Amino acid sequence: MADCIFCKIVKGEIPSFKVYEDDTVFAFADINPISDGHTLIIPKKHAENIWEIPADDLAAIHRASKKVAAALKSSLNLDGVAVLQLNGRGVNQVVMHYHLHLIPHISGNPKFFMTDWELKPGNMDVIRKNAEKIASAIAA
Ligand code: AMP
Ligand code: ZN
Repeated sequence: MADCIFCKIVKGEIPSFKVYEDDTVFAFADINPISDGHTLIIPKKHAENIWEIPADDLAAIHRASKKVAAALKSSLNLDGVAVLQLNGRGVNQVVMHYHLHLIPHISGNPKFFMTDWELKPGNMDVIRKNAEKIASAIAA
C-alpha cells in the first residue's frame, strides 16, 4: 500500500533495524521501545488487522515469533516477554499495517502497566452469555 510506513520499511524505502526476515515476514526494532529489545514482526504483504490478514501470513508471523522470542531470551537479561497485537483505533492501533509486538521485560525493571491488571471476578451470567454469543458466531 503506497502510503503505508511499514510497507515502505519492507521495501527498504524507509530505514529500519532488521532482526529477521523470510519470504513472508519482516521483523525489526520498534523505534519507540517500551523496553530494550522491543521488536515488531509484520507480514510483507499489506493487511491492516487480524480481520484482514490471511491465516497463512498470521501463522508465518507466529512461527517467526518463536525464533525472535528465543533470540530475545538468549541475548537479553529478561524474565518475560509480552506479546501484544492491537486491532483498531479503539485499542490504539496507530500503524494500520498488522504488527505483532514482542516486548521483553528486563529483569529488575518495573512491571509493565499493561500486564499488571487487577484480577476481579466477573458476573458469571454475563460471562456465560458472552461465551455463548461468541461460540454461536463461530459456529454460524
Ligand atoms: P501500535 O499501532 O499502537 O501497535 O504501535 C505502532 C508501533 O509502531 C509503535 O510502537 C511505534 O513505535 C512503532 N513504529 C512506528 N513507526 C516506526 C518505524 N518507522 N520504525 C519502527 N517502529 C515504528
Ligand atoms: Zn502496509
